[in-house]
Amino acid sequence: MSLPSVDATYLQDFLSGLLNTPSPTGYTEEAIAYVEAAAAKIGGVKMERTRKGALLITLEGERSDAPRALTAHADTLGAMVKEIKGSGRLRLSKLGGYPWNFVEGEGCRVRTEQGEMIRGTILFSKASVHVYGQQVDGKREDDSMEVRLDAPTRSADDTRKLGIQPGDFVFIDPRVEWTNGFVRSRHLDDKACVANLISAVKSLRDAGLKPRQTTYLLISNYEEVGHGAAAGIPADAVELLAVDMAAVGDGQTSDEFHATLCVKDSGGPYHHGMSQRLRRLAEAEGLEYRVDIYPFYGSDGEALWRAGGDLAVALIGPGVDASHNYERTHTDALVDTTRWVLAYLLND
Ligand SMILES: [Zn+2]
Repeated sequence: MSLPSVDATYLQDFLSGLLNTPSPTGYTEEAIAYVEAAAAKIGGVKMERTRKGALLITLEGERSDAPRALTAHADTLGAMVKEIKGSGRLRLSKLGGYPWNFVEGEGCRVRTEQGEMIRGTILFSKASVHVYGQQVDGKREDDSMEVRLDAPTRSADDTRKLGIQPGDFVFIDPRVEWTNGFVRSRHLDDKACVANLISAVKSLRDAGLKPRQTTYLLISNYEEVGHGAAAGIPADAVELLAVDMAAVGDGQTSDEFHATLCVKDSGGPYHHGMSQRLRRLAEAEGLEYRVDIYPFYGSDGEALWRAGGDLAVALIGPGVDASHNYERTHTDALVDTTRWVLAYLLND
């Protein structure tokens, strides 16, 4: 069958808006609301929030004897204020897994409890080569990194007067930039795939089509800390397609121009039968896909398996370069991933 067309401009605009909505794990309300508003505008879906704060979208299918689920996560890497230093600068506690050098020199915003945003930069504490010489090569760890605030503060008291306290969220600048079909930004993991799911819903709606089976889309909000989709997917779902970025680098088959089927990651192999079906669906649509293994990676599909979920799980997603760093992918991979999702939704 021929798939409904994917509106790449819609996908790009939706993705830009989501990337510019900060959502470190633990502070995802605004991003979830953004997705909810977009889905409401498309229409024809049922939505509810889980008690944990995720968004569950239900698409009525032609049949409902074997409901399916898909998931992508809206939460991203980020940080929290751990303590205010005597200098007035901030020590951070990371949200999600990344080395400090990946965000060194990056702009950030500290959100106070009152909702005020204070601008700053994440720096190594011995940042000036003219002062510290060789010491600038020192180890990047929690104790040696700090936030320099763009506010006149010289003491812990000055900083407290700005309204900043331990536990405040720190948003790392996404720096979204589109060039020649490429998009580079922080947090393409996994906002790119949320865009894949929502643009698939739009394609179905534009074409007046229903999925083959009643389908749940869980926009999860705790993936980066390992338990996002552990809860929230209705128990009658017989399988889960996790949609998350593919890992690009030396020795990987994945690249920024294609979608990948991940058959194994740190959590072991995915469901063979479901993976085989996804291959056949891609081939029937002429989608040039990759098959890969991700060496240091876990997904929300495995989070549900570990929580006791009894269902088949498979994983697909667009190739993302420099994951958890300043990431990049290409529109070709985004469109192909959306088409693959559509093929899955529309077929037996
Ligand atoms: Zn991810």
